[in-house]
Amino acid sequence: MNDTRRDVLRKNFSQIVGERNCTVGKEALTEFSTDTSRFTQAPVIVARPGNTQEIAEIVRFCRREGLPIVARGAGTGTTGGAVPCNNGVVMDLSRLNRILDIDPRRRIAVVEPAVLNDDLRRAAEKSNLTYPPDPASSDKSTLGGNVAENAGGLHCVKYGVTRDFLLGSEVMTMAGEIIRTGELHAGRQDIDIDLTPLWSASEGTLVVFTKLALKLIPCVSQFVLLLVRFGSLEQAAETVSDIIRARVMPSALEFMDEGTLDALSSYTGEPRRSDVGALLLIELDGAYERQVAEQKREVIEICKRQRSISIESATDPAQQEKLWRARRNVSPSLKAIAPIKINEDVVTPRSKIPELVNRIKEIGSFYQLRIVTFGHAGDGNVHVNIMIQESEYSRAKKAADQIFQAAIDLNGVISGEHGIGLAKKNRWMQDQSEPVLTLHRNIKQALDPDWLLNPGKIFDND
Ligand SMILES: Cc1cc2nc3c(=O)[nH]c(=O)nc-3n(C[C@H](O)[C@H](O)[C@H](O)COP(=O)(O)OP(=O)(O)OC[C@H]3O[C@@H](n4cnc5c(N)ncnc54)[C@H](O)[C@@H]3O)c2cc1C
Repeated sequence: MNDTRRDVLRKNFSQIVGERNCTVGKEALTEFSTDTSRFTQAPVIVARPGNTQEIAEIVRFCRREGLPIVARGAGTGTTGGAVPCNNGVVMDLSRLNRILDIDPRRRIAVVEPAVLNDDLRRAAEKSNLTYPPDPASSDKSTLGGNVAENAGGLHCVKYGVTRDFLLGSEVMTMAGEIIRTGELHAGRQDIDIDLTPLWSASEGTLVVFTKLALKLIPCVSQFVLLLVRFGSLEQAAETVSDIIRARVMPSALEFMDEGTLDALSSYTGEPRRSDVGALLLIELDGAYERQVAEQKREVIEICKRQRSISIESATDPAQQEKLWRARRNVSPSLKAIAPIKINEDVVTPRSKIPELVNRIKEIGSFYQLRIVTFGHAGDGNVHVNIMIQESEYSRAKKAADQIFQAAIDLNGVISGEHGIGLAKKNRWMQDQSEPVLTLHRNIKQALDPDWLLNPGKIFDND
């Protein structure tokens, strides 16, 4: 795009959002050209609307001018979802960051889309309520981005993912029209088709969220955390199945494989016991001490039956924090292994985790790549980290594709929480049946007839 055209656009957008909420400078554009993936494309302009009216005007202007547009939260996405394709406009929603209402009686929060995940939780806690979906990016990522990606986290095994907490929405279509659904829709809702879940996980391709109504639940006060070491991942996986079969539902249930334990050991300097092949972190919560103590007794029995090597238990917050540190140290410990981490998240039925991890090991040795896995054992979400040098990138992509295939072969899926975006688009399209793809395209076409809203993400139009 030439400078004259860019200048005209700057004037047009300045009229809508004000000059200081418009960015055309090279440095600022670079910041908005990517998320945390490797994809990058510079936007033609970044506009920061301050209210719904300005969003409507931006959308109508882009539609008139045939300009692609992408809504952006905090840019923490890992699959290129917020990357502006085809000379697009970035609509940075960071100014829409107000918590509009917390209704303790109905346990509902109404928020603007750029409220940070942690900020809602902190605000809800003042009313003794909480918002459970907790992606590891909760201090940075926005609730709009969370809904668009259907984000999950540590505590989703018990409480559910973002979609389970979305009660209603106010959204802008590419026609510049507002639609209110669920809790934000006035009047009776039980006779309508429920549109609210339609936009969840739509990765900004269908509508722009302008308000969200989210479910809150009462806080619980009792927690126990167990750190359990096993000789093998098979034993750890059997333990997970036994725990769930016993109808104990941990509030977090994380696993780490031996590659992750090696990385942690190099990072912390604490040697890994050679007989330890896997680790589980099991958090139990509840409203009453007795109830949690009973769950703990049952879980410890199950772990022992599966011949756990050691069990550490923490009841007070300081001790728990010490045990959680193992999990928090995973990310920095991986950074110390190699400069580049290709981070995929695949899902498989819980019982198949060991089989998947073994397949991943084989793929790693075939391509001579170091791959470590950890993740949410309770819901079968395996975080696969391919640790590479730049020169190994194309080999790593081939390995990633085989890992997706392995997950599918085991009745799993190619993404648990991180979405499809640009990163997994080809693979996702390849795995869909023609009727499913056509239906997705028809829904997109109905809401965005010119395919201008976040084009090129999840699926293409041909
Ligand atoms: C260190 C780290 C840890 C992470 N851990 C997790 C994790 O545990 N679980 C997990 O699920 N993810 C995780 N992620 C991925 C990422 O944080 C989530 O996908 C998050 O939901 C993205 O939110 P965001 O505000 O950064 O959105 P962005 O990256 O800005 O955007 C993501 C997508 O949402 C769309 N979008 C944003 N706002 C709106 C809106 N108002 N209306 C319509 N569409 C919109 C964008 O167009 C884009 O397609 C992690 C990322 C990092 C960097």
